Amino acid sequence: MELTYFNIQRFCLRDGPGIRTTLFLKGCPVNCLWCHNPEGRSASKILLFYSERCTSCGRCLGLCGARKMADGKITVDRALCTACGKCEKECLNDCNEICGATRDADEVYEELIRDKMFFDESGGGVTISGGEPLFQGDAAVYLSERAASDGVSFAVETSGVGSGEHLRRLADNGALFLYDLKGADPERHLKNTGVSLDVVLNNLDMLTGIGADIILRLPIIPGYNDSESDLSKMVELLARCAGKVRHAEIMPYHRIGLGKLSAMGRGAGDLASVPDGRDMAEDWQRILSSSGLTVITN
Ligand code: SF4
Ligand code: SF4
Repeated sequence: MELTYFNIQRFCLRDGPGIRTTLFLKGCPVNCLWCHNPEGRSASKILLFYSERCTSCGRCLGLCGARKMADGKITVDRALCTACGKCEKECLNDCNEICGATRDADEVYEELIRDKMFFDESGGGVTISGGEPLFQGDAAVYLSERAASDGVSFAVETSGVGSGEHLRRLADNGALFLYDLKGADPERHLKNTGVSLDVVLNNLDMLTGIGADIILRLPIIPGYNDSESDLSKMVELLARCAGKVRHAEIMPYHRIGLGKLSAMGRGAGDLASVPDGRDMAEDWQRILSSSGLTVITN
């Protein structure tokens, strides 16, 4: 079995309990307006071009039809780029990076458990994220089977948008779900993510119904899902989850994704004016804790 991913990050402390290694799988069916891993959305490889590092030396011109010099600056026509990677090799300034690789799942798994000694000491393990891991659901389940047979803790960071069958099989293999709730207002949820809240809640109900191990994650984005009405609906939703999940974690908005959008040749749009959410997290935590569920800030 093969899988396509865009990053493996070691020594992660925020992707579940203990020290963890996180695999970021490619592909996502959700379109969060604030996505902080936009490079993971497409299922295939893409080029990231860091134009601020470019000295316009011209070494990459002529490698393909996508790159041109205009007014002393290199431009990349994304429609013509096949992510062949020639410019990544040719450039001496590391301006170009191919984001995404396809590899054998067993080979990737062996890399993921390289820090097993640290996992065992810290109560950590492997986390799969993305993108949306359910987008490559068979690979996600396969990795969870391997982890279960090796006694390695396995967590899945998910939007809950995907096959219920994959979720069920992950739960059977003992996965801990880091389950996103991106809002509790159906209309706003659809507008902010392009996905119906029902899909997310139905899968959550199924998982709580079979006693799955769940931590809720609440990405809160100023101006998108933090109004008084948004928070009060979220309090109701969290109250319904009390006793069925471990706790909830607020994931305040941060601006890390903006640099990646620029490397993808896209502007930040409205996101450019959204403030960092960490300053507001204390207030959100106080309000959401009135649900009776333990709410912390990640
Ligand atoms: S990845 Fe290949 S096709 Fe895309 S800009 Fe670089 S050399 Fe051209
Ligand atoms: S090789 Fe690198 S530094 Fe030179 S023009 Fe191309 S992207 Fe810019």
